[in-house]
Amino acid sequence: MDRVYNFSAGPAVLPEEVLREAADEMLNYRGSGMSVMEMSHRGKIFDGIIKEAEADLRDLLNIPDNYKVLFLQGGAWTQFAAVPMNLMRNHVAAYVITGQWAKKAYQEARKYGDAIAVASSEDKTYSYIPDCSNLDIPEEADYVYICENNTIYGTKFHQLPDTKGHDLVADVSSCFLSEPVDITKYAVMYGGVQKNIGPAGVVIAIIREDLIRDDVVPGTPTMLKWKTQADNDSLFNTPPAYGIYICGKVFKWIKKMGGLQAMKERNEKNVIGDKDLEAQFVREAEAEGLVSLKGHRTVGGMRASIYNAMPYEGVEKLVAFMKDFEAKHPAE
Ligand SMILES: *Cc1c(COP(=O)(O)O)cnc(C)c1O
Repeated sequence: MDRVYNFSAGPAVLPEEVLREAADEMLNYRGSGMSVMEMSHRGKIFDGIIKEAEADLRDLLNIPDNYKVLFLQGGAWTQFAAVPMNLMRNHVAAYVITGQWAKKAYQEARKYGDAIAVASSEDKTYSYIPDCSNLDIPEEADYVYICENNTIYGTKFHQLPDTKGHDLVADVSSCFLSEPVDITKYAVMYGGVQKNIGPAGVVIAIIREDLIRDDVVPGTPTMLKWKTQADNDSLFNTPPAYGIYICGKVFKWIKKMGGLQAMKERNEKNVIGDKDLEAQFVREAEAEGLVSLKGHRTVGGMRASIYNAMPYEGVEKLVAFMKDFEAKHPAE
């Protein structure tokens, strides 16, 4: 069977040409006689791969010199702990709760200091982004935390909160590289790559240099201390080398497609909604090669995750299928 149109929320669709290129290089990476999976992460070839990946990412996001780019492991979840461990010098932080990921990050932060929920949309099942124009942020707060895009509920910050001079930390797992952003508005931006950039196992953290310090929360594991990773150019221990290699290819693909403005234009379409016919819809769609449309288990319904690598044809086919389905099952 041919490839399907995969609308999964993550791990998610990758550009087909990236996968083909990786397949071509699988057994023998550019004359090295081995796969990228098999080579030393301290060797010259991998050094070239990771440096080029970083350079392309810096280019795409226009990352200033005073920000470090770290390729880490442990999923976005591990950063839920690393963020407070590295930043809570006053042991206070302000969290905006816009969904389950923000809430989990907030609950994790409470283990390490005084995390305060300064705004929340939990009252209406996170169906909206709360007003963040005049948040009650404690003076001594070390940072303000947001989850920028919430795919489960289909919400996104279209305007960043007024942090009143405090550092902004954002989990961008589900909107990474999907539109142009101004990095200088963030102190820390991080995300797991499996939604929009590459295979699971890599987390990218972009961190303003002055925040990478030795005075972390006592007991912070060596691996979770950003300074350990920054001082070793993300090669403190064995990195997720193959994943970084694929990310590098996706960065090149995004550049070739026209960069983040082009990704934004590709992505300006979205989610569907239906009711009792959902199971039938999902079943019939699967038969047509449209897969992973079932909504998150906590909210039900349906969800089409349309990340950067989803081809237009996939969206067109989904829209056509939806119209056809609607015609066959008219609303009462
Ligand atoms: C998927 C997701 C996570 C969880 O990512 P893991 O890498 O599985 O830990 C966290 N935050 C957001 C916004 C996500 O979309």
